[in-house]
Amino acid sequence: MSRIHLQGLTRRFGGVTAVDDIWLDVADGEFLVLLGPSGCGKSTLLRMIAGLLAPTDGRVLLDEADITHLPARERDLAIVFQSYALYPHLSVARNIGFPLRARRWSRDEIQAKVAEVAAVLDLSELVARKPKELSGGQRQRVALARALVRDPGAFLMDEPLSNLDAKLRSSTRAEISGLHRRLGATVVYVTHDQVEAMTMATRIVLLDKGRLEQVGTPEEVYDRPESTFVAGFLGSPPMNLLTAEVVPDGDALRVRAADLDLPLGITADTPPRPVALGVRPEHLRLTTPDAAGIRGVVRTVENLGSEEVAHCVVGDERLCLRGARPLGLHAGDPVHLTAAPENLHLFDPGSGRRLA
Ligand code: ATP
Repeated sequence: MSRIHLQGLTRRFGGVTAVDDIWLDVADGEFLVLLGPSGCGKSTLLRMIAGLLAPTDGRVLLDEADITHLPARERDLAIVFQSYALYPHLSVARNIGFPLRARRWSRDEIQAKVAEVAAVLDLSELVARKPKELSGGQRQRVALARALVRDPGAFLMDEPLSNLDAKLRSSTRAEISGLHRRLGATVVYVTHDQVEAMTMATRIVLLDKGRLEQVGTPEEVYDRPESTFVAGFLGSPPMNLLTAEVVPDGDALRVRAADLDLPLGITADTPPRPVALGVRPEHLRLTTPDAAGIRGVVRTVENLGSEEVAHCVVGDERLCLRGARPLGLHAGDPVHLTAAPENLHLFDPGSGRRLA
């Protein structure tokens, strides 16, 4: 499998910079997920790697070779899109074998390879069918098989699961992860779905407005977001962000409108400054009214099945608390919340960058 290097990759469309100076190395066998909201530039970045779109600036290297200007069909990369793009008049077997026919493999060689790949993806029983006789999940597996059959240097996938219903998405997700582990394949995978990113990625690349916000393992980006953008994108509900300030004389952080100091181990010479205080909904705990904490009022409680989310107001700000059901909270209840210091995150309210 191959390594991919992106060096200052940039794409402008008129006045819009869709991808802005991306530097990134994708290691051999890595499952790299490009994650971000709609319009952040994920697909544009993937299309440039695939050779379907020319960069305005920068280079793409596959192993040591500069492939920036190589046509897509000459790149040793297989692409899987959200629309399966199967040939409707061809059987599953012929769809899977299509790239090999284009490469002029012999009939016997194609048959053997198709059988092998169909077995890997649990499609052996279905090879005689036409795409319209398959479920959405089966069609996506055929599309994966067609990518796999070429033994490419790397796989590029653009939201391959987004046409599947929730249950199929989950099983196909597990299938792609398993395939990645078995093959040791290099994968670059685009999604806006954080569950897909968290469960499949070896590393996640968070993009915002064409720029790289953070790169890290799923644990790193979730546990230590480098910006309020990342903190507010990951998690369900995402991290709470409250207006706070470091008090001038000490070791404490005062949450505005909460009338409370939280010991944070901030050094005394930290100048007084406003900060954004981040705390994940699952890290908030109810505490007794006389203990240090954040005072709020419950607005609504959502039942998620095994858990509940209480939506609260703290002064003029909102905050969510998530925990095992039942939380024992109801609309109108006063709450008094606390969190362990290691679960508190501080950000610069202007730039949004992490402070501590
Ligand atoms: P989504 O999740 O909605 O697919 P994305 O993160 O993949 O979004 P891109 O499709 O890469 O985002 O688009 C990035 C930006 O570039 C957007 O502002 C989009 O409007 C713009 N853009 C993409 N393709 C073109 C094009 N062919 N012409 C003009 N602008 C484009």
